Amino acid sequence: MADVPDDLLEQIKYLEKIFTVDQAKLKEVTNHFVKELEKGKSSVLLRLSVEGGSIPMNPTWVMGFPDGHETGTFLALDMGGTNLRVCEIILLEEKGEFDIIQSKYRMPEELKTGDSDELWEYIADCIQQFIEYHHEVEDLEKLDKIPLGFTFSFPATQNYIDNGVLQRWTKGFDISGVEGKDVAPLFEAALAKRKLPIRLSALINDTTGTLIASAYTDDTMRIGCIFGTGCNAAYMENCGSVPKIASYNLPPEMPIAINCEYGAFDNEHLVLPRTPYDVIVDNDSPRPGQQAFEKMIAGLYLGELFRLVLVDLHDNKSCKVFQGQDISRLRKAYTLDSSFLSMIEEDPFENLSETGDLFRKELGIRTNKPELELCRRLAELIGTRAARLSACGVAAICKKKNIETCHVGADGSVFNKYPHFKARGAVALREILDWKKAEMDPISILAAEDGSGVGAALIAALTIKRVKAGNL
Ligand code: BGC
Ligand code: MG
Repeated sequence: MADVPDDLLEQIKYLEKIFTVDQAKLKEVTNHFVKELEKGKSSVLLRLSVEGGSIPMNPTWVMGFPDGHETGTFLALDMGGTNLRVCEIILLEEKGEFDIIQSKYRMPEELKTGDSDELWEYIADCIQQFIEYHHEVEDLEKLDKIPLGFTFSFPATQNYIDNGVLQRWTKGFDISGVEGKDVAPLFEAALAKRKLPIRLSALINDTTGTLIASAYTDDTMRIGCIFGTGCNAAYMENCGSVPKIASYNLPPEMPIAINCEYGAFDNEHLVLPRTPYDVIVDNDSPRPGQQAFEKMIAGLYLGELFRLVLVDLHDNKSCKVFQGQDISRLRKAYTLDSSFLSMIEEDPFENLSETGDLFRKELGIRTNKPELELCRRLAELIGTRAARLSACGVAAICKKKNIETCHVGADGSVFNKYPHFKARGAVALREILDWKKAEMDPISILAAEDGSGVGAALIAALTIKRVKAGNL
């Protein structure tokens, strides 16, 4: 950074200081994480008590892995942050094989903060469109009800697999009248109005779907995680080691997938190295004080952190970036998403011309070389911190379960698209777990199979098989 003036350099140094998470901190965060995972397993079902810690550790009623011989036709609905996806999946006779057809629908931004009825009506409309497009109407009447796996990627309390009481909205969703309610009847009522030949068989989390779909094709998969708009992971426990389900008297050796909901890790703010910008993100969110970990690492927030730093540098610091320019577009909250940072990090450092274009086109801001270099460094800092902290959650599950070697299936826009995210996460895992430079890392985080499509179908299939066998 030869041509960066001293005062700007000073700011960069400050940003490096507050956004860097060193090895010691990674270990401290991970160790605290292990304790919190343990606490979450014992606490009562619907709780946010101090004794329970802040990680919900929700039992999912997904009891074990598929064996590859599941068969049948299933629907899957994925309610994500940006899209709504409907799939029809046929699990074939051949081991581990399936066919899938799918359609994506836009998830209108207004719906995320609108009202409950509108949400369910919209979702049911999309499913109806899908069914009518892919099936002859006459056939529909003859069809048995098709089992549907609904990927509802929010924390939910389940006393069985086909229902779930929404604990709280996350990822910027804020639809009144749903928190504290069972979402299954709300969704089913909208389906019933349209007389669709569908039966809700399983309500699942995206992480659980990811875990199951990945294990379908790779039996060394032990954890499913999402690094996308939000962040979270699921893994298997034995029923006997989950005190909060003791009253169900399940066979102690029976496996059950736990949806950690670890985006809520450290809501008490005891260990996470939060910067003043993280505090603003939290305070200005619809749910302050919640999802502390997620707000530092998930895709929804990365661009916002970047934006907040730049606005602060423009307004309050002696070095003043973007001097004398109209930064009104930059002042709009959530105007930059993580793909903006991805593009900056992908831009060849030599001239950063793409970054300059981005600022001009997207924000109406002209940039000089030192400013561009600052932006690049800031994007690197934010992206690196996200990847490094992400590794703490995975490391904590492995430590807690004494897993020394396994594959971890990961999905989500940040994992799949953000430059260097995978490599930075792998470096952090090595630092946390003190691996010597080996040929191959004993634990590696790999791209997962489609959890909210195939995973949801598999879980529906497993549930039906279990019910038929008279188990649960
Ligand atoms: C939700 C989780 C979900 C994660 C990734 C979080 O905000 O609470 O249920 O798994 O995002 O989509
Ligand atoms: Mg998703």
